[in-house]
Amino acid sequence: MRIGGGSVSGVAEVLAQFGLSRPLVVTDPWMVSSGTVDRCLEPLRAAGLRAEVFSDTVPDPTDTVIEAGVAVLKGGDFDCLVGFGGGSPMDTAKAMAILAAAPPGTKMRAFKVPAHADRALVPVVCVPTTAGTGSEATRFTVITDTETDEKMLIAGLGALPLAAVVDHELTFSVPPRTTADTGIDSLTHALEAYVSRRANPHADSLALSAMRLIGANLRTAHREPRNAAAREAMMLGATQAGLAFSNSSVALVHGMSRPIGAHFHVPHGLSNAMLLPAVTEFGLNDALRRYAEAARAVGVAGREDADQVAGAKLLEELRALNRDLAVPTPRGYGIDPDAWERLLPTMAAQALASGSPANNPRVPDEAEIVSLYRTVFA
Ligand code: NAD
Repeated sequence: MRIGGGSVSGVAEVLAQFGLSRPLVVTDPWMVSSGTVDRCLEPLRAAGLRAEVFSDTVPDPTDTVIEAGVAVLKGGDFDCLVGFGGGSPMDTAKAMAILAAAPPGTKMRAFKVPAHADRALVPVVCVPTTAGTGSEATRFTVITDTETDEKMLIAGLGALPLAAVVDHELTFSVPPRTTADTGIDSLTHALEAYVSRRANPHADSLALSAMRLIGANLRTAHREPRNAAAREAMMLGATQAGLAFSNSSVALVHGMSRPIGAHFHVPHGLSNAMLLPAVTEFGLNDALRRYAEAARAVGVAGREDADQVAGAKLLEELRALNRDLAVPTPRGYGIDPDAWERLLPTMAAQALASGSPANNPRVPDEAEIVSLYRTVFA
């Protein structure tokens, strides 16, 4: 990992360290139209590398886009992929590397959990521009199956980037809505990693550090986009949160969030935010000490607060964050109540099938998930 302001200028050196010289840069259309991708292309070209670009990625990447990307990858003489952008381009690059290693005709769904996606055709180097999914540091990629509208979790060493270049200066241009959504995504990663049934001391230390950084800086980064200290803290927090959940897991919020994204096209961090207070309340008493410690890390409770008090303060803070960052309910977002109600059984089944709810401190059954979806709809 290369971490720090301006570190993207060293991207060619990172490739050279691994003997890589023929990158295909995977990014999104905005990165190209705004010229942001040049921050990555210029140092590559200055080093004499012939970097080509695949920019047909979409938010919440789909299997069809991955197939198109694989055709480009296999049609050229590339020895690595550089995922440059938010979680969507990074996940696209990872999935392209995985699918390209499979026999022709294989579908992306062949790799969804519980399968293991351990092979990749070429290594992937990630350069995140949001803070963020932490995808630059995780062994996951999330791809939508366009036949079933399912956001599939794909896990394995094939999805683990070879290297990451984490430069917070790339996030100065992130608009407030996306800053809020991606920041709450990071907070959710850290909190879920910390309360997960698969928590462990290594992931704990990263999750606690991430919660401290995000708790103290998310509102500032949202209010002051060019506040370098806040952006730096958020970027580091996002990467640490990614490392944390990649070494333990996410839990019920993520399990329930993916179907909302797939069926109603709500940005990933925003659907997490819609769920976070209610799902935290659902599991609070089953991991009270951990939630209380999280409240202290986020900075809303102190040592003097008993666990019950600290847990209540955490809930209060999550609700306040949603108010301050203008997070709508699904109804407020404009989702049709009938469509929501009709899809609840499918969404609950897809949430459970992802495996993430089984890591929650309180493991819900299908009926409880449906009931939580009804609670948050508002
Ligand atoms: P995104 O990549 O979809 O980007 C959201 C928007 O922000 C896009 O319009 C993009 O062009 C814009 N944007 C990105 N960087 C910008 C910048 N520096 N300045 C201005 N605009 C910028 O959003 P995301 O939240 O980063 O990623 C979401 C995706 O990541 C989802 O598909 C989600 O499922 C996935 N995800 C993956 C993991 C993982 O471990 N692989 C973890 C969490 C989420």
